[in-house]
Amino acid sequence: MRTIGVLTSGGDAPGMNAAIRAVVRAGIYNGMKVMGIERGYNGLINGHIKEMELSSVADIIHRGGTVLKTARCEEFKTEEGRKKAINVLKVFGIEGLVVIGGDGSFAGAQKLSEAGIKTIGIPGTIDNDLAYTDYTIGFYTAVNTVLDAIGKIRDTSASHDRANIVEVMGRHCGDIALYAGLAGGAESVILPEEEYNIDEICKKLIQGKNRGKLHSIIMLAEGLGNAFEIGKKIEEVTNIETKVTVLGHIQRGGNPTAFDRILASRMGARAVELLMDGASGRVVGIRANQLIDMDIHEALLIEKKFDKEISELTKMLSI
Ligand code: ATP
Repeated sequence: MRTIGVLTSGGDAPGMNAAIRAVVRAGIYNGMKVMGIERGYNGLINGHIKEMELSSVADIIHRGGTVLKTARCEEFKTEEGRKKAINVLKVFGIEGLVVIGGDGSFAGAQKLSEAGIKTIGIPGTIDNDLAYTDYTIGFYTAVNTVLDAIGKIRDTSASHDRANIVEVMGRHCGDIALYAGLAGGAESVILPEEEYNIDEICKKLIQGKNRGKLHSIIMLAEGLGNAFEIGKKIEEVTNIETKVTVLGHIQRGGNPTAFDRILASRMGARAVELLMDGASGRVVGIRANQLIDMDIHEALLIEKKFDKEISELTKMLSI
């Protein structure tokens, strides 16, 4: 293989740059030309492609976001759109492609692979919603960002004897709320994977207050109802002033943690190795700290299991 391409697709995640750097440097190290495709499948269809040099990825391992930019592309979901993309790949002589993104991006990569383009996926999403891998690139950085916010919220909440609902990202996967809840010592965590009981949450807040607790944190995964309405309800029942903080997009930004940089570097290099071995339609993951790779289709079929152990531990430690 003489020329490979790399793109980032879907939502951005801290550590994507470290993954791009690894793909570019591992590719060049192994004597290949590496082309950077801008704005995901959008840039692929429109030929927004440039050759990456060693220096193109200098000074980016520590930066959040993605120097290749990312986008969502409806056209790529159509047969016609993909035909255009495949033609562009041929014109640029790109024989293998590394796609850094989430499950949607992987579904696209699989279609390219079925059409004969050698394609490898790297999991880049803060949500940690890909079941085949223990961790996705960006997840732990997002959890750290949430922890940083919790620390600041605690300072102000303690000064006012308040409770605080902290709404975090994650869509159908509550991992950010759960892990940040455990690490941040949250009093309650509201997740999509578990029924929650508002009366129980209120009882805990009242008991905590009676014990002299100065403040309380309730983690809320997004999409589980209106945080402000939940806050109002809690305030009515407990008589504890309850503020709401919706963290939003700050969770996507920031310098990647050491864990994410190392994960991204390992995965990027493995993706290049797989392409050199002639593999296609596979995704790279990590299980028990060992890199793995598996068929994209099979990987996407695995259902995400809720981490009951972490959830039970969080509850036990927040009594
Ligand atoms: P995130 O988890 O951060 O949202 P993602 O990769 O899941 O990342 P999506 O918006 O679902 O993000 O997908 C990114 C892009 O992948 C889409 O805009 C589209 O171009 C392509 N894609 C998604 N699903 C398919 C599909 N079924 N077939 C072909 N391409 C797809």
